[in-house]
Amino acid sequence: MSENAPESTLPYPPLHQDKKFIVLSDWDGTITTHDSNDYMTDNIGFGKDKRRAGNLEILAGTDNFRDGFRKMLASIVENGHTFEECKELLRNNIKLDPGFKEFYAWCKNNDIPVIIVSSGMAPLIRAVLSKLVGQKDADEIEIIANDVTVFPDGKWEIKFRHPSSGFGHDKSQAILPYRALSRPPTLFFFGDGVSDISAAKYADVLFVKTKLDGENDLAAYCQREEIKHVLFSDFSKALPMVQSIVEGKKTIDEVVV
Ligand SMILES: [Mg+2]
Repeated sequence: MSENAPESTLPYPPLHQDKKFIVLSDWDGTITTHDSNDYMTDNIGFGKDKRRAGNLEILAGTDNFRDGFRKMLASIVENGHTFEECKELLRNNIKLDPGFKEFYAWCKNNDIPVIIVSSGMAPLIRAVLSKLVGQKDADEIEIIANDVTVFPDGKWEIKFRHPSSGFGHDKSQAILPYRALSRPPTLFFFGDGVSDISAAKYADVLFVKTKLDGENDLAAYCQREEIKHVLFSDFSKALPMVQSIVEGKKTIDEVVV
């Protein structure tokens, strides 16, 4: 970890020391078709208009992700919704990217760890993941995320991994230790939104998901900041690009143009 690393309130899984390739991926809106926290905020919190306005403030830098995200989630609690209720709502409504299962199976068969790096809350991710990919894979996939505190009165709040960071969870902290290894692996990162800004410039190959709903915040950020990336619409389109690099048929520069 770098000297400027924010203090983490939550543990990290051990590093995979000897891998040639590592996949790190955002969960919400990347492995899933819709962002679960946006879904909750739009439907049982303060609604889509206010949520989008908040996202755009984060993108513009007038608010940070941690505080904007906390406001979104607080609006759900203020409307009286328990954490268990949220879990159920998401289990019933959140869907998997159509190409992810095959992508994950290929990575597993090729000894490439897949790590979920999320600004969401781990218990919600596990609850949805177990329904979407089955308990076995859900238990196996590493998740580096935030957590939740549920109070005796049923209210709840997000427990940020890096409360001192404006990102709440600074995703670069999941990537940088790999870069510091003596023989660092090639790092693929997949993301879609403002929660991925902290990670965007540290991957070797950054995949940015394009969205039909026009909420392409990470793509907008990468264009503005001139961060090289590859656009993909779902994991079935990303898989051949990852394969071509892993199999040595293409260099990173040939894929990321
Ligand atoms: Mg996302």
